[in-house]
Amino acid sequence: MRSEPPVSSQRLHRAEAGQHIGPVHRSAVAGSTAQRLGPERSANGSAGVPQVPARIEDLGAADLRSALAGGEFSLAYQPIVSAATGAITSCEGLLRWQHPSLGPVSPADFIPLAERTGAIGPIGAWVLETACRQAAAWPEFCRVSVNVSPVQLQDPDFADRVVATLLATGLAACRLELELTEGVPMGDVAVALEGVAAIRALGVSIALDDFGTGFSSLGYLQRFTFDRLKIDRTFITGLGEARESWFLVRTMHDIAHHFGMAVTAEGIETEDEARMLREIGATELQGFLFSRPVTGEAATALLREQAHRLRSGKAGRRTKSLDHAVP
Ligand code: C2E
Ligand code: MG
Ligand code: MG
Repeated sequence: MRSEPPVSSQRLHRAEAGQHIGPVHRSAVAGSTAQRLGPERSANGSAGVPQVPARIEDLGAADLRSALAGGEFSLAYQPIVSAATGAITSCEGLLRWQHPSLGPVSPADFIPLAERTGAIGPIGAWVLETACRQAAAWPEFCRVSVNVSPVQLQDPDFADRVVATLLATGLAACRLELELTEGVPMGDVAVALEGVAAIRALGVSIALDDFGTGFSSLGYLQRFTFDRLKIDRTFITGLGEARESWFLVRTMHDIAHHFGMAVTAEGIETEDEARMLREIGATELQGFLFSRPVTGEAATALLREQAHRLRSGKAGRRTKSLDHAVP
């Protein structure tokens, strides 16, 4: 088996590709923008004049549509590393929205809006295509993990779209993993089951994201076949202090093991957490300890360097600073 070099946490630790600001701050930014633009373009502007949303709560389907058309979305990539070797095995695409007046808007805020309004279809298609295109340029040892809303899975054509995207981008199916969050109900379970089966039949793997936090964690495992469980950050934080957290994570790992699933632990911020997860037997680790989400270029630089070290047989050597790759 090929041995892959570890990636130092300092080395990978990079500035977040988009710093999120809280709603209060966002409102203040939007307020000052509205003042600069003048009253006719403020959030309370007159009919027929484009309105500038003053707060995240004011955003609507039209804002999402114009964001997609106007190129306001981008993808950041967060490395996922092998628990055994520390080498990057995958990068997760995380959607970023740089709104012209509100600044960076967190996906935790706008994905639910996209799901409610149906905009998740075209946005999700853009994410899938962008991530696959990016991954096709990476060394073959690296997968790409793409978040997919259960709402997208309700589209009976979703699996066909995945096929078309793989063909268009040239990415091998085995290098794509779709992360399905447990935080949103599956909808029509029969449709979702069919979608998951069709996607897995392509050779694309499926992870159950945010495991333990959402709807019917265990019920899903009874009905769906997943390749991986992603244990949510809420269980990882404080793993060292609370014995209960340790038991929960250990139990989730054992469940995954019995179902033949790999385990990724997300949200790892300390060496202690990483050590405990290795001891528990997690397959892969992800979190700020290893790397924050970085731009596609920065992820490419990290992967090229890892590939170079593999070729030159320098597995195990600690990497030096990658500051040049950070925006
Ligand atoms: P997720 O898929 O579970 O992604 C992990 C989130 O935790 C990301 O937040 C990531 O930046 C953050 N994170 C990673 N490691 C750490 C850590 O060590 N500490 C802390 N405090 N946070 C960490 P982000 O990017 O804000 O995304 C939030 C959620 O939005 C994602 O959770 C996912 O459910 C959703 N999302 C993001 N991009 C997409 C997308 O393209 N499509 C869909 N449907 N959902 C997306
Ligand atoms: Mg995810
Ligand atoms: Mg998650």
